[in-house]
Amino acid sequence: MVDLPVRKTLPDGFLSCRADELQSLLGGACLIHLRGRTQQAVVVSILLHGNEVSGLTVVQNLLQQSTTLPRDLLIFVGNTRAAAAGLRRLDGQPDYNRIWAGGELKEHAIAQQVLDYAASCNPIAAVDIHNNTGRNPLYACINHVDRRFLRLARSFSDTIVFFSEPHQIFANNMARYCPAVTLECGQPGDRLGIERALHTLEYCLHREISDVANEDIDKVTLFHTVARMIVPPDSRIAFGHTENADFVFPEGFDAWNFQPLPVGSHFGMALSADKRLCVRNDAGRDITGDYFSLENGVMKTRKIFSPTMLTLDERVMLQDCVGYIMERYPHDGTH
Ligand SMILES: [Zn+2]
Repeated sequence: MVDLPVRKTLPDGFLSCRADELQSLLGGACLIHLRGRTQQAVVVSILLHGNEVSGLTVVQNLLQQSTTLPRDLLIFVGNTRAAAAGLRRLDGQPDYNRIWAGGELKEHAIAQQVLDYAASCNPIAAVDIHNNTGRNPLYACINHVDRRFLRLARSFSDTIVFFSEPHQIFANNMARYCPAVTLECGQPGDRLGIERALHTLEYCLHREISDVANEDIDKVTLFHTVARMIVPPDSRIAFGHTENADFVFPEGFDAWNFQPLPVGSHFGMALSADKRLCVRNDAGRDITGDYFSLENGVMKTRKIFSPTMLTLDERVMLQDCVGYIMERYPHDGTH
């Protein structure tokens, strides 16, 4: 059994260090529990992905500004070893944002201790701070459509994504105890992303989270992630040109993220008979035919949807996915 260190004061140097220095400063993942005036805790998680460094800057900025905290602040510093290497995760490590629903590894045990400790601190909000690789607007993700979750997400952005899978993420498992949100702060270091995330933490520290008026949430644009688009892992991908490729996507197609694609949009080309783009829903069912037609190698959309996480990074596309399919999600704030 690994014991998760819980520090009751800020380690020297924490407020000015870089993400790649945290491993030598802290010696690994840890919780920092800072006392506030009331014993309600705001729980923040940073660096679950080691190269997504905005969360550290957000926490540093917050603590440089605030001398006394109105509420307890619980900071989980995640994958410091990957951060030291500037990577999302190291080979042989699990993804730190997939360890929160049980498992056999020491990282699962650490995650469970974080959840147990946080649950014992009267948590009122949980915020997990991330960055993206492709071009995306700033957006917040929630795993329950509920007024308090919507309000918390909206303190960051009017663009909100609701999804159920993957369910093993931090925010979804903190949601048992309090409203929880994942913030996608643009690419690492994006100034607006850092500013907005700081605003969300200040909202959590100062405001009544359970008080939500209709006007607080009626302007949000809520998307629902319904499926993933994947290609076979040995595919050859090209952007813009057709030589030596199984799939050809338009150049700069990550500009389509969060944009509604009209029916009949030319999404790309599938040039090899044995390799097809596949769309799978949360249950794993192949629903490609609902979204795409294929004629003479040209993939066209059959239904309006907005993609997200489209990337121009071929490695990410093959290891993870081409992107996600989202639809607008109706909400009247009363769920
Ligand atoms: Zn991430």
